[in-house]
Amino acid sequence: MTEAWVTLATNDDYARGALVLAHSLRRVNTTRKLHVMITNQVSVRLRQELEAVFDAVSVVDVMDSNDPENLALISRPDLGCTFTKLNCWRLTQYTKCVFLDADTLVVQNADELFDRPDFSAAADIGWPDTFNSGVFVYAPSLETYHRLVEFAVEHGSFDGGDQGLLNEFYPDWRDLPSAHRLPFIYNMTAGAFYTYPAAYKRYGKDTKIVHFIGAQKPWHGSSAVHQGEHYHTWKAIYNAHVAHTSSDVSSEERMRQWESG
Ligand code: UDP
Ligand code: MN
Repeated sequence: MTEAWVTLATNDDYARGALVLAHSLRRVNTTRKLHVMITNQVSVRLRQELEAVFDAVSVVDVMDSNDPENLALISRPDLGCTFTKLNCWRLTQYTKCVFLDADTLVVQNADELFDRPDFSAAADIGWPDTFNSGVFVYAPSLETYHRLVEFAVEHGSFDGGDQGLLNEFYPDWRDLPSAHRLPFIYNMTAGAFYTYPAAYKRYGKDTKIVHFIGAQKPWHGSSAVHQGEHYHTWKAIYNAHVAHTSSDVSSEERMRQWESG
C-alpha cells in the first residue's frame, strides 16, 4: 500500500513551484511518496532538479496520438492542460493520493489527509457550494480516468479548467458525508486575509496547506497578493533550494527586485 502526493508542472515556471512544494513537504517530514507529472516542455535542467527531490517523475503528453484517449482529448484543445491533470488518475501504482497544485505550499504536516475518503476536497472561496480543485484526495483508477475523459470530451468544462470539469463530474460533493469536505486549513487561499481578516487572525495559525490562486504566482515576484507570512516562507524555500535553477538574466533581475522590494 503506497500513498503519494502528486503535482503537475507543464513548464519551467510551474516546475519551480513544484520544487518549492516538494521541499515544503520534506521540511514537514511527510512519510508519503512525492510524485510529479511533467510534460516535454519542462527543460532538462528543471527535470533533473525535480528528479532530485521527488521520488518519481513521470512524463505525460496529451499530444501523444498513439493513445486513443489522447486522440479524443486533442479534439478539445480549449481545455488545455485541464486534461493533463486528469492523468493523475492513471497513477495506479499508488492506492491513494493527494493532488496538490504546483502553486501550493505545505506549512505543517498534513499526512492525515490520506485517511480521507475518495473523493475529498475543500470549498472554493468564490462559490462555496463547489470545491476548489487545487487540493484533493483521490484513489487512482483507470476506470475513473476513462470515465473522466469521456465526460470531459462530452461536456467540456464550465470554467475552461479542471475545476469546472471536476465539479460537474462530482456534482453531489457538497452533500457527501462530511469526511469528503476538507477543512479550509488544507487549501487556504490568500483571499482569506482580505475578505475575513478577523477569521484569519483567529484560525490562520492552523493553516497546513496554502494555495496561491490567481494569475499572480509567487514565482512572478512581489505583488500585493504576496505580502503575507506564507509568501515569505515560499520565498525562503525558493531562495534556499530553487533560485539557482533560474539562469536567465530576466529571472535573476526579478530575484534582485524581490530582494530589494
Ligand atoms: N498547470 C501547469 N501549467 C500551466 C497551468 C497550470 O502545470 O500552464 C498546473 C499546475 O500544477 C497548476 C495547476 O495546473 O498549479 C492549476 O493551475 P493554477 O494553479 O494556475 O490555477 P489556479 O489555482 O490559479 O486557479
Ligand atoms: Mn492553483
